Amino acid sequence: MKVIVVTGGKGGTGKTVLAVNLAVALAKLTGGKVLLVDVDVDNPCTYTLLRPELKTVREVKSFRPLIDESKCSLCGLCVEHCMPHALVLIPGHKLLYLETLCEGCAACLHVCPKGAITRGESLVGWVKAWDGGWISLIVGELKPGDRRYHEVMEETLEYAAEAWSRGEYSYVIIDTPPGTGKGILFAIKAADIVVAVTEPTRLGLNDLVKLHGLLDKLGKREIVVLNKYGLPGGVDREIEAFALNKGLAVAKVRYDAVLLKAYVNGLPVVESYPKSPAAVDILKLAKLLAR
Ligand code: SF4
Ligand code: SF4
Repeated sequence: MKVIVVTGGKGGTGKTVLAVNLAVALAKLTGGKVLLVDVDVDNPCTYTLLRPELKTVREVKSFRPLIDESKCSLCGLCVEHCMPHALVLIPGHKLLYLETLCEGCAACLHVCPKGAITRGESLVGWVKAWDGGWISLIVGELKPGDRRYHEVMEETLEYAAEAWSRGEYSYVIIDTPPGTGKGILFAIKAADIVVAVTEPTRLGLNDLVKLHGLLDKLGKREIVVLNKYGLPGGVDREIEAFALNKGLAVAKVRYDAVLLKAYVNGLPVVESYPKSPAAVDILKLAKLLAR
């Protein structure tokens, strides 16, 4: 079994479309069963291309402070330690809790000198799953308006790791959110290979440089995917030069309007237009990853 993490420093590079198409391509090419895991919990989109019947398999709960007003001396210590400002003191009057800002860190519980805060729980998201036979999908979904995405990501990855440890999958593909935050690190650590998706823009190059720095520190094998290759005015050559300089393999996925057409129709391009330039490039990448 191989764990492939599809990630990118920058949003909008086409990472999710690539992850779904790779999952479909790997299943078609190898005949092996593929598990696709979507931990872009704030904006999970993998299911738009697979149309699965997802079922909730876990509720994700997080710490929330329960405040006993009769014990609270309104000292303000918890407010000082609450980094996201989810606690607000109205001096001499009341302590307010703003749940939508809370990150569930429990710092308030530990610093309160009066024992006025106890442990409560609130729902922050869900883990959902679907088994489509040749491909399975596990999706983490953050409750709208909540900020505790790390917890949903970690719970989703934990559930997925339990599923892949049962040994029925040949490939696991993890689609992460953009950036290099805490939850992404958890996913990257599980990877046998990381697919670093970028696009031929200056911002794409900058974010690739940052992502490579992190992957290099973690000692992860990496393939750069230059998506939208040939985009007019793009900095393809600079990205290729960067990868060459770092000794990284580059797979190009040509800029192709058919990819968008397939996306709008809710279909993976490798199935709906397998001879299109983007599909041909993705199938080539899948062959490389299957080795
Ligand atoms: S759990 Fe953390 S973020 Fe939430 S109110 Fe307490 S200190 Fe603030
Ligand atoms: S630290 Fe405890 S006593 Fe002080 S304001 Fe917060 S809840 Fe009240």
